[in-house]
Amino acid sequence: SAVFWWWLLDSRLHTSGFCHFARSQTGASRPPAVHSPTLIALAAILAALVTAVLHLVWRFNRHIPGLGFWVLSFLSASVFGASLLVREHMPLVLSVVVAQAGIAVAAYCCFLGGRAYLGLRLPHHGYATAAIVAVVALAVYFTVGHPHPVARFVLSGLVGGVYFLLTAVTLARGGFNKVPARYIFAAMVGFHGAFLLLRPALFGLISAAEAGSDMAQRISQYVALESTVALVMIAFGTLLLTNEHVTTELRHLAEMDSLTNVFNRRAYLTLLDKAISNAQRTRQGLPVLALDLDHFKKINDTWGHSGGDDVLRQFVALAQQCLRKEDVMGRLGGEEFAIFLLNADGQGAEAVAERLRALVETQPLRSDHHAIPVTVSIGVALCTRGDSAETVLKRADAAMYLAKQNGRNRVEVVASPVPI
Ligand code: GH3
Ligand code: MG
Ligand code: MG
Repeated sequence: SAVFWWWLLDSRLHTSGFCHFARSQTGASRPPAVHSPTLIALAAILAALVTAVLHLVWRFNRHIPGLGFWVLSFLSASVFGASLLVREHMPLVLSVVVAQAGIAVAAYCCFLGGRAYLGLRLPHHGYATAAIVAVVALAVYFTVGHPHPVARFVLSGLVGGVYFLLTAVTLARGGFNKVPARYIFAAMVGFHGAFLLLRPALFGLISAAEAGSDMAQRISQYVALESTVALVMIAFGTLLLTNEHVTTELRHLAEMDSLTNVFNRRAYLTLLDKAISNAQRTRQGLPVLALDLDHFKKINDTWGHSGGDDVLRQFVALAQQCLRKEDVMGRLGGEEFAIFLLNADGQGAEAVAERLRALVETQPLRSDHHAIPVTVSIGVALCTRGDSAETVLKRADAAMYLAKQNGRNRVEVVASPVPI
């Protein structure tokens, strides 16, 4: 089937006139891989354009992790592309060094970009440097010491192939539905990496099947074509990842409270509404806690507004210690918060509320090395049939005000009229 695939592509190149054009353009001075000038020029121009575009994107989004490495990766590919354009006018050994190092550095920077993007530790550059130097040295040996174009061809895909594949493995994580851009990027670099590693096999297959005189030329055309497509697709993937990062950032800004880093009122109410319809469908309990810090005005008056802000941040951190991962907390305004607990009943919610109340009471919050005593009043309400976020929060609020009336620093639970 590989032979058929090759034949299909080969016949297309013939009918499109590429081969004829390439043959008429190339002399016999360089026997191994004489490329189609059109394809090479196209690849080099695309590489330069893509690098310029990505560089601009990076200049305005320097905070996006990994993007700088990807720009370096495309820059390296561009240098390689440019070197192919002037290959006839430079010493063969120099063009071999630039080509081998260009592909390897491009792939390694792509890998670094992937790790940086995900916030993973960057590897020691020693291994990659050793691998690249070894490959370049071997390629030089197969150019001047013991000329062997096929060996150079095999070498040129080794480091690049491995690092592109490693990039794919690094990025294909987190679930396709959640982070599709990562999988699309991974598929693109993965395909290119696999092709770099497998193309010598293809080369061997073809040389065994039909050892024609213009075979090397056709293979080089196929290689140039694949590189061009890969270049564009990986650039497209890079832009998708940039977009993913910016979108996540904007969503975070729109949904989170900047002081305490829990959901803001709007996002919290949306999530609560969703949780309520889910709970009504599955007939599971959904307790809602309304929390209000006691005498917070006094805290602000005594310790200043920034002292009050410190207290708010630390209060949220304490609350999160008492919650499970699936519980959702929001800041409804000022020093008022709400929490809903998934898969919990009234008793469980009361226990959580009591634990939180006691923790806040016993753990003094700090601002500027001062310990600030803080207490919290909590109201608990259970979702009932026909509830909306507003109605259940109103009942939880009423319970919280009851706690205030009954002396603050306490938990009150409202009985729910109709169970869910
Ligand atoms: P109570 O026990 O009855 O709840 O008394 P309180 O003083 O906590 O009640 P009140 O709602 O009257 O006061 C809330 C105060 O919270 C008033 C406001 O200055 C302060 N506040 C609101 N938002 C912020 C904020 O973002 N940071 C700080 N430091 N203070 C805030
Ligand atoms: Mg208060
Ligand atoms: Mg209040």
